[in-house]
Order: sequence, then C-alpha cells, then structure tokens
Amino acid sequence: MPIALIAHGGAGNWRPGSEQDAVEGLKAAVEKGRGVLRAGGSALDAVCATVVILEDNPIFNAGTGAVLNFDGFCELDASVMVSRGACIGAVAALQRVRNPILVARKVMEETDHVMLAGEGAQRFARVMGFPDHDPITPARRADWQDKRKRVDEVLGKHSLKMRRFLKDHPEYAGGTVGAVAVDKDGILAAATSTGGVTMKLVGRVGDSPIAGAGNYASNHIAASATGTGEFVMRALAARAISEAVQHGAPVARAVAEVLDGLRRDYEADVGIIAVDSAGTPVAQHLTRDMPHAYFSGEHEVASRMRA
Ligand code: ASP
Repeated sequence: MPIALIAHGGAGNWRPGSEQDAVEGLKAAVEKGRGVLRAGGSALDAVCATVVILEDNPIFNAGTGAVLNFDGFCELDASVMVSRGACIGAVAALQRVRNPILVARKVMEETDHVMLAGEGAQRFARVMGFPDHDPITPARRADWQDKRKRVDEVLGKHSLKMRRFLKDHPEYAGGTVGAVAVDKDGILAAATSTGGVTMKLVGRVGDSPIAGAGNYASNHIAASATGTGEFVMRALAARAISEAVQHGAPVARAVAEVLDGLRRDYEADVGIIAVDSAGTPVAQHLTRDMPHAYFSGEHEVASRMRA
C-alpha cells in the first residue's frame, strides 16, 4: 500500500518574516512523520510524531506558543482519529500541558470516552504522567496585550464579538496544526491541535477536537481543517469530504466542493488538508496562506506556503 502524510500549520495570513520559519518547521515535522511511516510505523504514530514537533515549535498556534484567550491564558484543543474501529480521542480547553495531542491519544487508548474537557482533562493529563507546562511564550503574551488594548479602543470595553476585529487584523490569524496519513496497512489517521481562535471567550471550544468537523479519519480519507472553527463545525467539513469520496469523488474534488460551500455560505476563512487511501495528499485553502508539507510513496518531502 502507498504511504503518505501531509501536515498544515494553519490557515490565515502569516506575519511577514515568519513564512520561511513556518514552511521549514512543517518540513521538519513531516520528515519525522515520513521516517515513522517508512520504518513501517502506523499512521497514528506518524501523525502524532508530526504534530508533537509542531506543538513544540512556538511559531505555531498549538502547544507551546498557542494563542491566549480573552482573559489571557491558553485553552488547548486537540484530537486524534484512526480509521480502523473509528477510534477517537480528544481534549478541549486544556490549560497546562506541553503536548495536547498526546493527551488526546491517551483519552482514546486509556478511557472509554471520546473527549475530556477543562479541569477533567487537566486532571487526566496529570494522572497519565504529563507534567505541568505553561504554554505561554513572551511573544504570544505581548500579542495579547497589544490586541486587548486595540480591542478596547476599537470595540469598547464590553464587546464580546471579536470576528470583525480579527478580520481587520488578519495578521493575527492562523497557526493551528494538523497532520493526516495513510500507512502501509492502508489505515488512515488524523491529528489536529490548536490554541483556538485568538481572543476567544473563556470556555470556547472550536472544531479541532470535534470528530467530523475539524478532524476525521475513515476508510476513505483522513482530513484536518483550520480556520474559524464555528464555520467548520456548521459544515461538518471533514466528514463531508469522507462522504463525497465514499460516493466516488476524487479527494481533491471533495475538498474543493466542501470549501466552495464554506465560501458560499459563510465567506469562511478555512483551509483543509486530506489524504485518501491511495496516498493522494491534498491541500486547499480560502485564506491567503496555509503553510503545509507533504510526501507520498517514494517522493521526498515538499513544502510551501500556499497551495
Ligand atoms: N480551527 C481552529 C479553531 O477554530 C482555529 C484555526 O485553525 O485557526 O479553534
């Protein structure tokens, strides 16, 4: 069976000067996942290894370097899914851990549940041996201070609707990470991790930990979405791609049709990566940027800022 893996670093507008780092960071992460697959490892191990590297890279909005919520702390969402057995593990609004994707995997492997949230997810992480880790970097803290000041000036002290502000300041968007892969046994897996949308209300959960929305793996495809999760959840975007492929659409067309719908219905700022069981990697986005890297079969890793 052909092996393949593709990873993204978030749909949005990357800050000038950070593009090269984003593309190189993705390339290094995908090299790691490729090494796992080429050594005969599972798609699950490959996507987790890839996402861990991206979570540890502070330029991405996941794990260390995640964006802060309105009150100035991180709430991390992540999920994994494996096609065989439709196994899912997810965490939402997790505050202090280095690699949320590994906690999500533990939820899948060590509990009867699909998702743990907030305080319960935090306690579970500690029981599973994940030490306390503050994901906030000085750069993200400075961003947050700047944004809070501007939001107060632009919207007034009590506005809770941030979308307009963020649309006017798109340089602040992006950075979620995701990886999808197919292994030598034809098993597909998806992993997505994020700090969510910047300045989100405390307790807000996005699409990334919701199976079928921001993350999904079936026998047909594995997909990971990025961009404003409220739109991705309405469209159940990743699941819709799987259904289209199941009914005979090539994966690239299935992704394009889902994105067309998101543009038409919501003018959504969304991007999607997917891979099918034949090892075809796809990246498409409605935003200006979505750094991504991929390989399939015997090919070397390729990486770029825009599809
Ligand atoms: N989809 C993520 C969320 O809504 C954010 C992003 O990908 O930029 O939480």
